[in-house]
Amino acid sequence: MGVFFPLNNAMPRKILVTSALPYANGSIHLGHLVEYIQTDIWVRFQKMRGNECWYVCADDTHGTPIMLRAEKEGVTPEALIDRVHGEHARDFAGFGVKFDHYDSTNSPETRQFCELFYQRLKAAGLIETRTIEQFYDPVKAMFLPDRFIKGECPKCGARDQYGDNCEACGAAYTPTELKNPYSAVSGAKPELKHSEHYFFKLSDPRCESFLRQYTRHAEGRLQLEAANKMQEWLGEPGEHKLTDWDISRDAPYFGFEIPDAPGKYFYVWLDAPIGYMGSFKNLCAQKGLDFDDYFKPDSDAELYHFIGKDILYFHALFWPAELAHAGFRTPTSIFAHGFLTVDGAKMSKSRGTFITAESYLQQGLNPEWLRYYFAGKLTNTLEDLDLNLEDFVARVNSDLIGKYVNIASRAAGFISKRFDGKLTEADAGLPALLAITEAAPRVAELYEAREFGKAMREIMALADLANQYVDSVKPWELAKQAGKETELHLACSNSLNLFRLLTALLKPVLPAVAEKAEAFLNIAPLAWADTTTRLPAGHRINAYSHLMIRIDPKQVAALVDANKESMNPPAPAKPAAATTETSTENATLSIDDFMKVDLRVARIVSASPVEGADKLVRLMLDIGEDKPRQVFAGIKSAYDPAALQGRLTVMVANLAPRKMKFGLSEGMVLAASDETGKTGGLYILSPDSGATAGMRIK
Ligand SMILES: [Zn+2]
Repeated sequence: MGVFFPLNNAMPRKILVTSALPYANGSIHLGHLVEYIQTDIWVRFQKMRGNECWYVCADDTHGTPIMLRAEKEGVTPEALIDRVHGEHARDFAGFGVKFDHYDSTNSPETRQFCELFYQRLKAAGLIETRTIEQFYDPVKAMFLPDRFIKGECPKCGARDQYGDNCEACGAAYTPTELKNPYSAVSGAKPELKHSEHYFFKLSDPRCESFLRQYTRHAEGRLQLEAANKMQEWLGEPGEHKLTDWDISRDAPYFGFEIPDAPGKYFYVWLDAPIGYMGSFKNLCAQKGLDFDDYFKPDSDAELYHFIGKDILYFHALFWPAELAHAGFRTPTSIFAHGFLTVDGAKMSKSRGTFITAESYLQQGLNPEWLRYYFAGKLTNTLEDLDLNLEDFVARVNSDLIGKYVNIASRAAGFISKRFDGKLTEADAGLPALLAITEAAPRVAELYEAREFGKAMREIMALADLANQYVDSVKPWELAKQAGKETELHLACSNSLNLFRLLTALLKPVLPAVAEKAEAFLNIAPLAWADTTTRLPAGHRINAYSHLMIRIDPKQVAALVDANKESMNPPAPAKPAAATTETSTENATLSIDDFMKVDLRVARIVSASPVEGADKLVRLMLDIGEDKPRQVFAGIKSAYDPAALQGRLTVMVANLAPRKMKFGLSEGMVLAASDETGKTGGLYILSPDSGATAGMRIK
């Protein structure tokens, strides 16, 4: 057994940590994992230090997208969020992200807190109602969130843009500015309708003065860049830049109904973040913890939220203001991070770099490779982080295999074969051992400050020292020489002590490898205090087995390939012999896929022959847009162009435009024909009378 010293005598800190709540409408991907891995490393470090540290999170389960997706799948929202909860929990566990509790915001605890916040904020005069105008889908009988309204960009005219911003030109606008808006749910033309909404008065002078103080960098709650951003958002005193936040939605909605307002539901701002507290409350019941001890206004516990920089406004302004005025403590700090890029660019489905957690694990890649790579790139700033796939392979192979694991693999065999698995006492003055023990507090400070990249560089410099030692004593040569038993025993015992200390330093990042190393070294789980101890003489180790293997670049190439078609659900894992039975899935089309086809009633404004193309007719089609679209159709054999003018037909309006030698073809008209071609007939479609140009066909 190892020599164990008690933990540092200082009182352990009480720390509650959260990561942002993933929405229960999609898969976890590597972009998400930056945050969960970052948080998990920090939490594991705190636990190794002997602090009382709890890590909670939950799926964010409410909202219109969940409701609509469940409806499309023909399941209840509860069944949908249960399934996704299982998928998310599986993915997080697969990457060693170890929550103390992973809940759902659709929980009794969260509901209770939502109601409590609402009552207290209302009593404080910080909730008010206001009538707003919002787009309403008359077919689905529901108000439409911005993302469910589409139309033409008011700036550049690009079609099928969302109600909040244009993907073609980047312009931001409100849904009411869209030209020719339609509901992405039913395709119907939305109507503007009045509705009474509930607002949290963030603009109230009490909130503003509280936030001016709370968000100052000197308070230590926000990173410098974030604090500066807040000053910009708060503006100068008297500018009144804060606006009130809409906290309600109308039925039909999947969420918690506002107690004294039938048909009104709490919207995300008064629902999702309260899930942090609901999840912790549930953990308190499991562990017998005192919830108020962590959330009362004068709590001495620390509360940290790890978030992406995109939700800073919300976590640094709205959430603390809500907490402070509902009688709770506010966050100690908010730790924002940047976004993930892959090979220097935004993650992309077409390039295969939009990589899901599930596919990474299914392809058999070791999750700790990614944990280490992310750790090596993480800082405590809001800077983006790049996963360079070539560098990923090189760095993991060079650092983890070449420098770290290698130390154990070169020494362990001799101890087992020549010394009955027993160590001798390590050389107390060995410079490499002293260097690691001396560096451990610095590494601890870097972990504490979330400077993981710097910590990894420091640890790898120590691993270099350890390797220099092994190379200088050459156990493999000592083993061949007669009479060098004592030297060999000491060399290998020193090496394994070096390996043990490096394992302790890397343990927050590599929990699974550390666990295997602890089993092989035959020691209790390493704590941070173990960085000052040595294995005693006579300690017996177990047989060495591989702790980690090298990455083959082919595995990374296969991962990218597997994600190139990630519009399709990933294939279930199954034996290689059984891969031929997937075609039935392709024979049917989901309603989602069908709805992507924008079919419109088109009026043929003009039809003319095309010079140099016997089979083509040039059609100019009115589908209710500013100007008609040009389409080249191969229907000359069946129709006299002049006879087509004025007719209504059916057009696919969202085909990518195709450049032909006669000009641009901006769509396709539909025609029926005998597939065998025997009858030779060709028949364009016509809608029933009453239909008008531009109507959507569903
Ligand atoms: Zn645009």
